[in-house]
Amino acid sequence: MTPEEFRAAGHELIDWIADYRASIETRPVLAQVAPGEVRSMLPDVPPTEPEPFASVLADLDRVVVPGVTTVQHPMHFGWFPSNAALASVLGDLASSGIGSLGISWESSPALTEVEEVVCDWMRQLVGLSRAWVGTIQDTASTAAIVALLVARERASEFSEAAGGLQSVEQPLVVYATDQAHSSVVKAASVAGFGLDNVRTVAHDPWTRAMDPASLDESIAADLAAGRRPAAVIASIGTTGTTAVDPLPAIVDVLDRLGPDGSADRPWLHVDAAMAGSAMILPERRSMWEGVEAADSITFNPHKWLGTILDTSLFYVRDPQHLVRVLSTNPSYLQSSADGQVTQYRDWGLPLGRRFRALKLWFHLRLDGPEALRGRLRRDLDSAAWLAEQIDAEPGWTLVAPVSLQTVCVRHLPSTADGSPMVGEALEAHTQQWVANINRSGQAYLTASKLDGSWMVRVSIGVEGTERHHVAAVWDLMRSTVASLT
Ligand SMILES: *Cc1c(COP(=O)(O)O)cnc(C)c1O
Repeated sequence: MTPEEFRAAGHELIDWIADYRASIETRPVLAQVAPGEVRSMLPDVPPTEPEPFASVLADLDRVVVPGVTTVQHPMHFGWFPSNAALASVLGDLASSGIGSLGISWESSPALTEVEEVVCDWMRQLVGLSRAWVGTIQDTASTAAIVALLVARERASEFSEAAGGLQSVEQPLVVYATDQAHSSVVKAASVAGFGLDNVRTVAHDPWTRAMDPASLDESIAADLAAGRRPAAVIASIGTTGTTAVDPLPAIVDVLDRLGPDGSADRPWLHVDAAMAGSAMILPERRSMWEGVEAADSITFNPHKWLGTILDTSLFYVRDPQHLVRVLSTNPSYLQSSADGQVTQYRDWGLPLGRRFRALKLWFHLRLDGPEALRGRLRRDLDSAAWLAEQIDAEPGWTLVAPVSLQTVCVRHLPSTADGSPMVGEALEAHTQQWVANINRSGQAYLTASKLDGSWMVRVSIGVEGTERHHVAAVWDLMRSTVASLT
């Protein structure tokens, strides 16, 4: 494709994207396709001749769009929001168009330095001190792996340079509650800690916040048994109920184990994947009070804030520790700029990086932080409003505090004899009403287990979701259960 052909096709594609977004509300939220249906619409063999752009574009409508669950739909209340603000889409397009290769500073100085600047802009927007420097990872899952790899090396005094974990006599232990994201356990297992060395710290039964006394006891028991506490993962906004672990009390526990940065002090990784976006609101920053004492922090502008995937920020106070653990310096990547510049390949796992910073750069400049703050405040107000409605409605109950924009509910119908439904019948009822809503395509909610029982999360935060959409999903919830009971 020549640049002139690209220009013509590109204009058409931009029009197509604008039309798609403008008409998103007319589409079902959940993709109404059966397993294998999308595949069956595609040829089994690759094309032999180049095809016209028009037929590819037509297949976006025919094949792709029906097979996409429209998480940009204002009636999408599932999982967590995965906004893809159009301003950031333009940045993504610019990144692709420039086609930079980020393997060293020299391979694209702008890629490195724009990333340094936007990470610092975001640092300021979320109110972190100048002690923090950041980089963009693909996802919070990767950030958790990086955090646990560097935690492992701090606690094992750089075992990687010799016999590795296999030569370490004291088992290294990781601590989190069972409310932590699944990526945390995955990171601990792939970083070599072993699931036997992942401790489930107790949490408060209502707020689901980590119980610092339980952390303290667990650590003491491991020390007494000759094991070495290596990392604590604190969640600010868990995925289930947006629970907030108490950082100041956790830091107190760690302070007793060793000075900042020492091998005896477990690495504190703060997973604020979802809630981090809310830290652009000064009035919400008390949520992560104590965060300055952490060793690493991750949050995802690609969730609520709306910078299109994959944009996960990872901040540390000691980037030299990342470099010591993750640096590779093959001869073909050495240059005269070494020592004066940041080599992001030494701050994470991949060598080749995309110019992801352009997504944030465009997003922050074109939409502006004040509009982002306004949208987040709108969503927090909507969540508080919905929680009030649920609280006031007989037969409905909130199953967790609403600390952010996610409302966790159960509907508790009464049985024929007037007693409340419990046990298996209630489990089936919950799964039934949420499945009915989701299958209808009118809205999408997530059923999720909490304390072993099904509940439903209404996660507000799609860019287009206004209060009337939240009111509409609440109506739909009530009419759906009414049709079942
Ligand atoms: C979404 C989420 C993650 C995982 O984020 P990815 O960027 O998809 O890997 C991790 N932790 C929490 C608390 C989350 O909500």
